[in-house]
Amino acid sequence: MLDNKPFRLAGVMGMPVLQSRSPIIHNHWIQEHGLNAAYGHFPVRIDRVEDAVRGLSALGLAGCNITQPHKLAAMGLMDSLSPLAQRIGAINCIVVQENGSLHGFNFDAEGFIQSLRDERPHWQAVDGPAVVLGAGGAARAVVCALLEQGVHEIRLINRTRDKAEQLADIDRIRVQVHDWTQRHHALEGAALLVNSTNQGMYGQPALELNLDALPRQALVSDLIYVPLETPLLAQARLRGNTVVNGLGMLLHQAVPAFEAWFGVRPQVSDALRKRVLATF
Ligand code: NAP
Repeated sequence: MLDNKPFRLAGVMGMPVLQSRSPIIHNHWIQEHGLNAAYGHFPVRIDRVEDAVRGLSALGLAGCNITQPHKLAAMGLMDSLSPLAQRIGAINCIVVQENGSLHGFNFDAEGFIQSLRDERPHWQAVDGPAVVLGAGGAARAVVCALLEQGVHEIRLINRTRDKAEQLADIDRIRVQVHDWTQRHHALEGAALLVNSTNQGMYGQPALELNLDALPRQALVSDLIYVPLETPLLAQARLRGNTVVNGLGMLLHQAVPAFEAWFGVRPQVSDALRKRVLATF
C-alpha cells in the first residue's frame, strides 16, 4: 500500500547499464517495505556525466549508483566524499543531501566483507595472510576493505606489476607486491584468496592458478558472479576450500545505499537471492 509521502527516485548510472541487476534488488526492497519510490536504469554517455550528475539534485532524486565507466568522473563532481571512497579513489553511490549537495560513497568494500561473513560468520581479516589477484577498481575496494578490517599482510599480484605497485602505495608495510609469475607459490600459508581480475568471467578464459600450495582451510573468494561458480571456485571447492562467489558482494553493497536513500535498512533474504538468480 503506497502512502502519502513524497515519491523518491534513485537508479544506476553507467554505459552500458541495462545489464545491471541493481533495479531488481532495489525495487524488490521498495515493494517489500511498501515505499512510494522507484529505481531505474540511467544510461548516460561519457560526455553527459557531468550534466546528469549535476541534474540529480534539481530533479529531486534521492541519489544513484554509479557504475563503469563513470566511477572516477563522478567522484570529481562530488561536494563531499566518505573517507573510504576517498581512500579507494572511486565512488559507487551518490546521496543527494537535504541542502542539495552531493555526497559520494563506495559501498563495494562493505559488500565484499559481508559476502565473506555470509559463508564464514566468524571470518576475521587477522586470520592470516590474504592473496589478492588484480589491481583494478574492484581490487582497490578489496584491499582497502581488508586493511580497514585489520589484515596484517596482503600479497598483491597483478598481471601488470606497475598497477599493483601503485595500489600498494596505500600501505607499504602491510601490502607486498609479488610478481604475476609467482602467484602459485604466493598462496603458501594464506588464509584468504581473492580473485578480483576478470579471468573466469563469462566470455573470458579461466584464471590460470595452481592451488596446490593453498591451505585447505583458506577461504576462496571470486568477485565474478556471471558465472556464479567460476572454474577457480569449482577447483577450490573440489579440494575442500570454502568458496564465496560475487553475488553476495553485489547484494550487500546495495544495503547501505538503500538505507541512505530511503531511510530503511533492508535484508538480503533468500527470496531476493532467488529473484536475482532467476535473471542469470
Ligand atoms: P578493471 O578495473 O578493468 O580491472 C581488471 C583486472 O583484471 C586488472 O587487474 C587486469 O590486470 C586483470 N586482467 C584483465 N585481463 C587479464 C588477463 N588476461 N590475465 C590476468 N589478469 C587480467 O575491472 P574491475 O572493475 O576491477 O572488475 C574486476 C572483476 O570484478 C570483474 O570480473 C567484475 O565483474 C568483478 N566485480 C564484481 C563486483 C561485485 O559486486 N561482485 C563489483 C565490482 C567488480 P591488468 O592491470 O594487467 O590489465
